[in-house]
Amino acid sequence: NVKRIARGNYQFHHESLKQKTLGNIRMDSSLRKGIQQDEFSLMYQPQIDATTNKIVGAEALLRWHSRDLGPVSPNVFIPLAEETGLIIPIGEWVLKQACNQILSWKEEGIVLPIAINLSIRQFYYHNFIPSVEKIIQKTDINPSLLHMEITESMAIDQEFATKVLQQLKNIGVKIAIDDFGTGYSSLSHLKKFPFDYLKIDQSFISDLDHDKEGQDMISIITMLAKKFNMRTIAEGVETEKHVDLLKKYECDIMQGFFYSRPLPPSEFTQWKKNWEIQTHL
Ligand code: C2E
Ligand code: MG
Ligand code: MG
Ligand code: MG
Repeated sequence: NVKRIARGNYQFHHESLKQKTLGNIRMDSSLRKGIQQDEFSLMYQPQIDATTNKIVGAEALLRWHSRDLGPVSPNVFIPLAEETGLIIPIGEWVLKQACNQILSWKEEGIVLPIAINLSIRQFYYHNFIPSVEKIIQKTDINPSLLHMEITESMAIDQEFATKVLQQLKNIGVKIAIDDFGTGYSSLSHLKKFPFDYLKIDQSFISDLDHDKEGQDMISIITMLAKKFNMRTIAEGVETEKHVDLLKKYECDIMQGFFYSRPLPPSEFTQWKKNWEIQTHL
């Protein structure tokens, strides 16, 4: 009976949709509570210069340990926070936290850039630039130590995006284009705006395990970046073979589990000390 099957199907979809919505509503209210109750933290993943082996930076990655739900992946809660607008206070928290970390490292004698990830809604928020100016002024950090990772999807309104990027550049923060090569890559973005860093998406790094085409892609991307005066950062570097091939194709900076997973600040400084001893830096 076609009708019954169709009806069953409909109900099935309807149920799962309802469940999903309820789940989202529950997570949304947990997320709100999470902001008030300080359930977020930043982890820092070291970035290593391929030629000197020095630590040249860290990417700040957001973690949410919910009292209600336990640990939730950013791949799950960031899209929800984008939908609900909660990404605005969360993003602001990340920005402040990273600037404060730059400051405390400075007090410990560590001068290291921190890269934060921006979300599209945050990037287009009217108060974004003022909030960046304010926190830099308040912490009195060198703005060039603050790096911002954006994705190609943020160029949706080219004119507006270019304006925001120019303002960031004027402030003195550095810009990286994240997950490069995924999404709707348009090379015109590279021409229109001078990014400081190009982050090669980790899917390209894992492709290095398969065939020669994987190597060709890396070679092409690093050449492209060089033409546009950008330094390349490989993300998701997991094996020595990755490192060897990335060096062969002159990728500048390495980031991934091969070196270290993202670490809480206290472990990060310890890791840095050990790294410098091991590599005789
Ligand atoms: P992303 O910016 O591309 O970050 C890289 C992701 O790869 C991180 O996942 C990192 O933990 C993971 N990773 C690092 N090394 C390796 C490796 O060797 N192998 C593999 N398989 N993975 C590796 P994470 O921390 O789960 O973050 C996922 C995404 O969530 C990020 O992707 C970023 O788009 C977003 N995100 C994280 N923190 C923030 C934030 O503060 N604000 C915003 N707007 N988005 C964030
Ligand atoms: Mg990133
Ligand atoms: Mg990335
Ligand atoms: Mg990625």
